[in-house]
Amino acid sequence: MKFVPKKPPLTGETLDSLTALLAARGEPAFRAKQILGWLYKRRARSWDAMTDLPKALRSWLDETFSLMPATLVLNRHSADVTDKLLLELEDGSLIETVIIRAPQEGVGLDRSRKTICISTQVGCAMACAFCASGLAGLKRDLSAGEIVAQLLQVCYCEDARTPRAKAELASFDNIVVMGMGEPLANYDALIEALTTLNADWGLGFGARRITISTSGLVPKMLKLAEEPLGFRLAVSLHGATDEVRSRIMPVNKAYPLAKLIPAVRAFSERHGRMVTLEFILIEDVNDSLEQAAKLRDIAGDVHAHVNLIPYNTVDGLPWRRPGVERQEAFAEVLRRADLSVTLRREKGHDIAAACGQLRLKTEKKRETGT
Ligand code: SAH
Repeated sequence: MKFVPKKPPLTGETLDSLTALLAARGEPAFRAKQILGWLYKRRARSWDAMTDLPKALRSWLDETFSLMPATLVLNRHSADVTDKLLLELEDGSLIETVIIRAPQEGVGLDRSRKTICISTQVGCAMACAFCASGLAGLKRDLSAGEIVAQLLQVCYCEDARTPRAKAELASFDNIVVMGMGEPLANYDALIEALTTLNADWGLGFGARRITISTSGLVPKMLKLAEEPLGFRLAVSLHGATDEVRSRIMPVNKAYPLAKLIPAVRAFSERHGRMVTLEFILIEDVNDSLEQAAKLRDIAGDVHAHVNLIPYNTVDGLPWRRPGVERQEAFAEVLRRADLSVTLRREKGHDIAAACGQLRLKTEKKRETGT
């Protein structure tokens, strides 16, 4: 499922592809780097801002590419520490990109941990029972250029916050591919985009600070393990037995735990780094102490970090988060086994809270005209 825009975005080009296009026009070899420097480092917002390019070349760029394929329609800056950017693409599709500034104990907001959460699809085909993104199914894949554009939009927001200098994307601690969509179902565009994100001619962000989260597409996980750039992996487990996982994640029927767990092990052995197992706690669905014990065994077996996430309620879905005591009891089972565990309890800055919920609300408003 692809959208073909009138003009492809410049953010979808690589140094090589742009160099080849420019060479065909007889332009000198340094031009491609110069243009991408204007885009990513100097953050030109118009072709005319690229003042040291010949006028004819600027006109050609204008005829050939869109400079930015995503428009910021809403920046919901919450009272806590989250910025949710709602972006509109050229076909009217809406996607979300989230900036999370999670304060660490004892330090001010300036020294807080900063994470960016990006989307890879409009909607999602995985149909996880608890998730807002999948409610209306998959609309389409994002192109590599649209994925990259989200990060440039984050740069624009940061530049506006700190006008004295172009803020470096490197001042963020992590980029997580945990927004809308199943990243590994849009594999080629994902890798292309992350390559631009990482490249020194692009946004220069370290691959080891980029985490891709998957619902568990096993063959693609194994392919990802072979990628030279070495991205981190998080797996949405959410059920520690096939019975529980299949009830809430249809993907478990194709790739049950007997296939998923060896793939997690293979990934971490290939990389020599821990994989994260994400486990949303949903009341009376997966929050029993039996599930905790099974999760403990799995995480111990594959030597994974466990991230427990109290469920964020979604309008129209019946699921609830368990009470704090129950969350703690669950976490305690894992901690007692000396596993590496995090349990997030802050509401607003939950990364997963980003997942499809703002888009859903806006689309509903569009439909009802309110
Ligand atoms: N498709 C990928 C990445 C996007 S979802 C994946 O499944 O991993 C990012 C994370 O948010 C996943 O772990 C997902 O299960 C979780 N999530 C979705 N809806 C949520 C909700 N309402 N509350 C808490 N976490 C949620």
